[in-house]
Amino acid sequence: MSEELVVDFEKRFAGGTTIRANLRRPAREFNITVLFGPSGCGKTTILRSLAGLERPEAGEIRFNGETWFDAQQGIFRTPQARDIGFLFQDYALFPHLTVAQNIGFGLRALAKQERTDRVDEMLRLFEITGLESRYPNQISGGQQQRVALARVMVRRPRLLLLDEPLSALDASLRENLRWELRRLLGEFRVPIVLVTHDRVEAIALADQVVVMEQGVIRQTGSVQEVFTRPADLSVAKIVGTETVEPGRVIGTEDGLAVVQVGGVELLALLPEHIKEDAYVCIRGEEVVLQRHVDALTSVRNRLVARVVSIVPEGPMVRVGLDCGFRLTSLVTRPACEELRLQIGEEVVAMLKAPAIHLIARG
Ligand code: ATP
Repeated sequence: MSEELVVDFEKRFAGGTTIRANLRRPAREFNITVLFGPSGCGKTTILRSLAGLERPEAGEIRFNGETWFDAQQGIFRTPQARDIGFLFQDYALFPHLTVAQNIGFGLRALAKQERTDRVDEMLRLFEITGLESRYPNQISGGQQQRVALARVMVRRPRLLLLDEPLSALDASLRENLRWELRRLLGEFRVPIVLVTHDRVEAIALADQVVVMEQGVIRQTGSVQEVFTRPADLSVAKIVGTETVEPGRVIGTEDGLAVVQVGGVELLALLPEHIKEDAYVCIRGEEVVLQRHVDALTSVRNRLVARVVSIVPEGPMVRVGLDCGFRLTSLVTRPACEELRLQIGEEVVAMLKAPAIHLIARG
């Protein structure tokens, strides 16, 4: 019996939209699969189909050897029969029930003692002990979010589906909670499929990222793979790789590719499939800024660049550079202050060869 979540289906909507899903994940351990992509690409449709709220037209969904859906055999398990936990964007708690009553709401069929024990366990795991007698409007947004999760997990689902779980929170709370959320969810040995269009959320939470566009999965891989090695130009754009510029491989030097971009030559690792024309992809975090070139450095690419924009973004600052092509660097606020960056000034942008990812063009 395969201990996997196997998803391979096609959902066709009236009006012509088709969503195709294809993924396999371990079914009996904690892991987070993030469905990532722009609005309308089909993320929620996949989640709803897993939950049994949509019935695809073709394909199958299996969980740990059980068939939840099989178009050919006419099998379709109801949401109740799948033992799934589903947290929607708007996870509204019942306002007239206390925290403990909200969490225990789905356990009314159990004996009182067992219900109390299970609710207590959730209060402890989600670190909200002490709040059990309060009403939702007497606790903070972050606490409400934990109560909502506790209300889902108390039923011991075998699969947890989360649709933009942090979107109801304000920006600063979201910032703190996204790191916290992974730790809290790790307490449970269940696989999780989570929808987001927030890049930082995907990076903070995912074991595996599934990048979607217009109803199809474009790339599946670890955070590292997808964000630093996008499979094609559309994935690079979706995951927000800061610099994507057309270039040409014009030769090799010491086993590295010499790539011409704008008026500049860069040294990069050469993937086998690149012949000549390529897109040069560089993540902002990989571009290190300095005032002057160090006499001794292992960094292959040192570019004299003019600062053209400085835009704060949370704890980071996005620095736009002109170095013969448009390059973006993401630096921390303290680093930006230390460098005393000013628009119009010259700096040195340092880039290691492996930080330059080439995608075939044409
Ligand atoms: P968002 O991030 O905006 O929630 P999404 O990636 O979750 O978007 P879906 O809600 O899955 O996207 O929708 C995918 C596509 O399917 C969209 O083009 C949408 O218009 C279409 N669609 C969804 N539900 C239906 C429906 N019931 N009937 C017709 N088309 C639908």
